Amino acid sequence: MLHVGIDDTDSPSGMCTTYVSCLIIEKLKVCGYAVKGYPRLIRLNPFAPNKTRGNGAVSFRVEVQGEDEIEKVKNVVLSFVSKFSELENDNTNPGVVFYKGEINDSLKRFALDAIRRILTIDDAKRLADKIGAEVYEYKNGRGIIGALAAIGCPLPDKTYELIAYRSPENYGKKRKIDKESVKRMDKETYPETFDNIDDDYMAIAPHTPCPILYGIRGESPEALIRANQMIKVGEKIERYCIFETNQHTDQHIQKAESISQMKQFSCYLVSGEVKDRPRVIEGGHVFFTLKDNTGEIECAAYEPTKDFRKIVMKLRPGDKVKVFGGIGIHGTLNIEKMKIEHVKPLIEYENPICSCGKRMKSAGKNKGFKCPNCGRKLNGQKIPRKIPRSLNEGYYEVPTCARRHLSKQLIRMGIKGCS
Ligand code: ATP
Repeated sequence: MLHVGIDDTDSPSGMCTTYVSCLIIEKLKVCGYAVKGYPRLIRLNPFAPNKTRGNGAVSFRVEVQGEDEIEKVKNVVLSFVSKFSELENDNTNPGVVFYKGEINDSLKRFALDAIRRILTIDDAKRLADKIGAEVYEYKNGRGIIGALAAIGCPLPDKTYELIAYRSPENYGKKRKIDKESVKRMDKETYPETFDNIDDDYMAIAPHTPCPILYGIRGESPEALIRANQMIKVGEKIERYCIFETNQHTDQHIQKAESISQMKQFSCYLVSGEVKDRPRVIEGGHVFFTLKDNTGEIECAAYEPTKDFRKIVMKLRPGDKVKVFGGIGIHGTLNIEKMKIEHVKPLIEYENPICSCGKRMKSAGKNKGFKCPNCGRKLNGQKIPRKIPRSLNEGYYEVPTCARRHLSKQLIRMGIKGCS
C-alpha cells in the first residue's frame, strides 16, 4: 500500500488541495489503480502562521504492486500537483510525500504535533528520513509538513465531508445555491449532518474564489449522500468527492493542567476562576481574565461569535469555568466552547427595613441604623441579599458561523448545550 500526502497547493486567489487530490484520484482510477477507502482531509493547527485558510492537508492510499507501479503513481501525482498548484503565489509551497510502510507511532506523534504545535520543514525532513518516506518539495517545500501529517494522522473519532466542485468557468462568480433547500436539508438530516446553516448564513459555502461550491459535513457518507440529494443549485457541478476527516473531533485540544503551562499557538481545555468582570471593546469583542493558582490568561469571545458573547458578558468574578480554546496571535485564549461549572452566588448588603416600612439609614460608623421616617434606632449589621444571576451552569458553544473546523460540537459530544 502506498500512502500519498499532499499539501499547500492553493492560494487565497484560487485552487484547493482537496480538488487537486480529487483529480489525481480520478486519474489513478482511470489508469486502473485501486484507491483504498476515502481520501482523508486532515485539519492541522489552526494557528499555523502560513496557512491559507483552514489549514487542511490531504492523504489517500493506493494499492501498488512493485516499483514500476509506484513510479507510475508518483508520476501522475507529481504531474497534477505541478500543473494545478498556484506556484506563482509567494506563500504557496507545495509538498508531496510518498510512504510505503506502516503508520507507526512516530508518524502519529508527528501528525498530532502538527495539529497541536508549530513545526518546521526540518522536523518533517528528519521524520521522513527516519521512516523512509520520500518527499517532493516545490519552492521552499513547506507543504511536506502537512503532507506527512495527513498520512500519519490517527482518526479514533472522525467525520465526513462531501465536497461539490464548481465548473471552472464559474470560479470567482457568486455561488448559486438555493438557501431554502439547504434549510430543508438541515432540518431533515441534522444531527447526522451539521453546521449547514446558521440563521441566514449559509455555512456550507465558502466565500473564496476556490473550486468548491459547497461542502456538507456529517457523521457518515450515507447521511451526506442523502443530504446532497436535497440541495438545489443553479449552476453546473463538475464533480463530488467524499473525504474522511478529523473535522469536529477536538483533536487540536490538549488538557492543560494549569494556566502557566499553556503556550501560544496551541489549543487547550483549561479550568479556572473568572477574575474580573467581562468587558467589551470597540468592534464588539468581549474579554475577561481567567485565573488559577499558577497564573492568569485573557479569554476572548470575538465579534464573530455573535450571541455567545452575551453569555460571556454574564460571567462574574468567582465563577468557575472550563474553557476550550486556542491561544492566537494576540496571546488571548479564543473561546470555542465552555462549561460553566459554578455560578457564584452574588450577595449585596443593604440596610434593614424599619417596622414602619421605610428602609433605615446608617446612623454613623458602628452606630447602627436610624429610620428617616419614624426615627427608630436599631443596632446590628447590614442584611445580606442574594442577587439573582441570569446564567445557568452547563455547556455553551459558539454558533456555527464562528466554529473552527476542528472544534467538536456539543451535539457530537452527546451534550445538550445551554442558551
Ligand atoms: P486550504 O484550507 O485552502 O487548503 P490551507 O489553509 O490548508 O489552505 P496551506 O496552503 O495548506 O493552507 O498552507 C499551510 C502550510 O502550513 C502548509 O505548508 C503546511 O505544511 C504548513 N503547516 C501546517 N501545519 C503546520 C504546523 N503545525 N506547523 C508549521 N507549519 C504547518
